[in-house]
Amino acid sequence: MHTTTDVVVIGAGQAGLSAAYHLRRAGFRNETGFVVLDHGKRPGGAWQYRWPSLRLGKVHGIYDLPGLALGHPDLGKPASEVVSEYFGRFERTFDLPVHRPVEVQSVSREGDRLLVASTLDEWSARAVISATGTWDRPFWPRYPGQETFRGRQLHTAEFQSAEEFRGKHVVVVGGGASGTQLLVEIAEVASGTTWVTRRPPEFHEGDFTQEHGRESVAKVDRRVREGLPPESVVSVTGLVLTPELRKAREQGILDRKPMFERIVPDGVVWADGTKQRADVILWATGFRAALDHLAPLHLRTHGGGIRMDGTRVVDEPRLHLVGYGPSASTVGANRAGRSAVHEIRQLLERQ
Ligand code: FAD
Repeated sequence: MHTTTDVVVIGAGQAGLSAAYHLRRAGFRNETGFVVLDHGKRPGGAWQYRWPSLRLGKVHGIYDLPGLALGHPDLGKPASEVVSEYFGRFERTFDLPVHRPVEVQSVSREGDRLLVASTLDEWSARAVISATGTWDRPFWPRYPGQETFRGRQLHTAEFQSAEEFRGKHVVVVGGGASGTQLLVEIAEVASGTTWVTRRPPEFHEGDFTQEHGRESVAKVDRRVREGLPPESVVSVTGLVLTPELRKAREQGILDRKPMFERIVPDGVVWADGTKQRADVILWATGFRAALDHLAPLHLRTHGGGIRMDGTRVVDEPRLHLVGYGPSASTVGANRAGRSAVHEIRQLLERQ
């Protein structure tokens, strides 16, 4: 027994909500026309899980969702609260049929429809928009000796507060925005920090130009068109040298070292035998797209990614991925939601 609807949107982050808004505008009705399934306990997408010291401001900002401005939130409040309140307001304003907490377990083919199995119900849909982001798939690289480490290892996804590291020596792994930001916060209270990255980080003076943004997105777009896994946005854009980062650089905190070779019970060791004693290893090594629910569709190419044309999956045109690859930013997620709905309308009209 399953419920029938035209479109199932999986995920109510920026990308899923943008898609839901455009479905609503295009005349799809709640429940029979579309549903949104989200496994978060409250509105906010991945933002609801981000650490309490993360604020919307200079480094982190979100684009307004379509049709409703964020306004002037209290920037002293954690981003998790601000965004959760904003997304909740958005869902109520447009009366979006969001069901939560509902975990989508799989999407499979059933004749001319797609079957979405979840912890609440099974939906039979004509099209699916998957907007599941990356938060549920933190990426932990593997290094020899990792399991022998006697200190604490954690990923950005588990980070709560720099206070936990007061008086400890912390090795921060990763050269992205989170890695540098957490390094600077932790350095204020830790007895010492060591920063390691695979590649020397590229810093840019001043904000990114629009042209730079477009080039970076185009690079990721080329990769997913070829069916390769998308790269993280920072790996193609580089980092903006904010006043905080410039100060940290002057203080010697951004003294980057190459990756260590192995982990020992009380620290990390480089190929030349140099050792750094450590109490904590923080893996700020990013996230991968959360796509396990799509496994029954067998979409992975030999290159390890999913072949895309815009937001449409080439090997399953009834499925769109939004917030994936080139649209994995708040502005990209907005646009992707609109474009997925535009194509799905055309597909359903042709049927
Ligand atoms: P998410 O916000 O992750 O939403 C995905 C939703 O899908 C979640 O609600 C989740 O519960 C749900 N979901 C996942 N799997 C399932 C399932 N199987 N069943 C049901 N529901 C499911 N971008 C910016 O533009 N500006 C920034 O300042 C910025 N800062 C960032 C800081 C950090 C630390 C990180 C990790 C990312 C940041 N980004 C930023 C990237 C940005 O968060 C994303 O591009 C965008 O917010 C993601 O929106 P989304 O809708 O694609 O995913």
